[in-house]
Amino acid sequence: MAGLGNVIRELIGKRGSISVADYMDLVLQHPEHGYYRHGDPLGQTGDFITAPEISQMFGEMIGLWCADVWRQMGKPEKFVLLELGPGRGTLMQDALRATAKITGFQQGMTLCLLESSGHLRKAQQEKLSDYKIHYIDDLASMPALPVLAIANEFFDALPIRQFEKTFQGWCERRVTLKDDELIFTLSPHDAALDMFIPQALREANPGTVHEASLASLAVLKTLSRHIAQHGGAALVIDYGYVEPPGAATLQAVAGHKTVDVLSSPGDVDVTAHVDFAVLKNVGLAQNVSILGPIGQGEFLRALGLELRAMQLRQTATPQQVDDINSALHRLTDSSQMGTLFKVMAVMSPQLSELPGF
Ligand code: SAH
Repeated sequence: MAGLGNVIRELIGKRGSISVADYMDLVLQHPEHGYYRHGDPLGQTGDFITAPEISQMFGEMIGLWCADVWRQMGKPEKFVLLELGPGRGTLMQDALRATAKITGFQQGMTLCLLESSGHLRKAQQEKLSDYKIHYIDDLASMPALPVLAIANEFFDALPIRQFEKTFQGWCERRVTLKDDELIFTLSPHDAALDMFIPQALREANPGTVHEASLASLAVLKTLSRHIAQHGGAALVIDYGYVEPPGAATLQAVAGHKTVDVLSSPGDVDVTAHVDFAVLKNVGLAQNVSILGPIGQGEFLRALGLELRAMQLRQTATPQQVDDINSALHRLTDSSQMGTLFKVMAVMSPQLSELPGF
């Protein structure tokens, strides 16, 4: 988008280079031109497709997971059901349909959504028109109640900073201008940057890249604190790693294809893989328990995805049977979303185990 390109050029002209995190924040969340502010990126005709858009089974499984944890919590009369980055509202719609008959569950829930996109808020309101939605702008303003929280492909959209090992030491990768074009550059070496680098990578070879998302840490910290204080659990589902890969995972996607990160600011989705090891440590420091991360395939199979597929097949047309089988494969197979996508649970120490793990 030319408008946003100019905003970024002007900013760099004034301030000098900007961090990758600042760049991501602008291209995704700029109030007028940000990627998540001006359109609907999801689905076959959009830029990418997510698990709930692949099959209704995904949201149903997550809904039943929530109801099961609610039972383990002793069926609190009042609780918050929270989704972070609900997209089109598809996951929540399927989750609520699957739990409609569970006595007391929906009667006791306050449905809270955290969503920055006006377009997607509209889509959510349409899909969830039978429910009262409370939009919250930040997690700190959640009602003081136990919470069941879901974040599917939310953390990958939060800004990261990038660091690169050079012969001088660790430097920061930043975005600057050359001949009016956006390019990556490296900051001068600064020993203080070592603070961001896990011990195991500090002495790595030149060319090694490490990414760190302070925004993700802040979200997980607030959520974990809430769970430690008021009870409940959260599921984080996303593509990511436990061992830092030592290479950049920052990527841009448009029309289901990988494109240049700096090419069309505001018109392409820019994300990074989620560092589950760091999220886990942040949670543990807030006195919650952490389960996983485990592969999405393993998690969904343990919840009974195959059984649900079998049920659906019984009344399906041949075309629908093909769709169900293909969705099952995409959601669980290691060559698809089964392993790269991981599931981690944050839970109140009062709970001992959770379904799926
Ligand atoms: N969970 C959905 C959508 C994933 S796309 C699904 O699985 O289909 C990422 C979602 O997070 C979108 O709804 C996007 O608008 C929202 N989002 C991204 N960054 C956000 C932020 N900083 N604050 C609130 N919502 C955000």
